[in-house]
Amino acid sequence: MTTRSVTVNGNCSYRRTGHDPESAVLRLARLTGREREVLLLLGTGLGNRELARELGIAERTVKAHIANIVEKIGQRTRTQAAIVSALAHDALCADRACTRHRMTEPAPEQRIRAA
Ligand SMILES: [Zn+2]
Repeated sequence: MTTRSVTVNGNCSYRRTGHDPESAVLRLARLTGREREVLLLLGTGLGNRELARELGIAERTVKAHIANIVEKIGQRTRTQAAIVSALAHDALCADRACTRHRMTEPAPEQRIRAA
């Protein structure tokens, strides 16, 4: 039985492509409160129509928000931004009842300040 490496050619994909979504987490402070709200929701994987319904705004406004967010956090696509969202959930989510927060961590508003 052979053991396959989980990396391609032994090189980490993040190292090979030079794209590490963790680096974008540091840029979240550039976003407005509304943009952080949109980014958190983007992490759920919903499409623009569903995002518009959830946020109570027009689909074209959702597209504009996402374009701004992608640019501000130094990404190229909404998928990359969604990955950043999932990585940064604890910093983006202000819902104290959210079960994804760990009890020992400081409240989200203490870690990320509005732009
Ligand atoms: Zn949450």
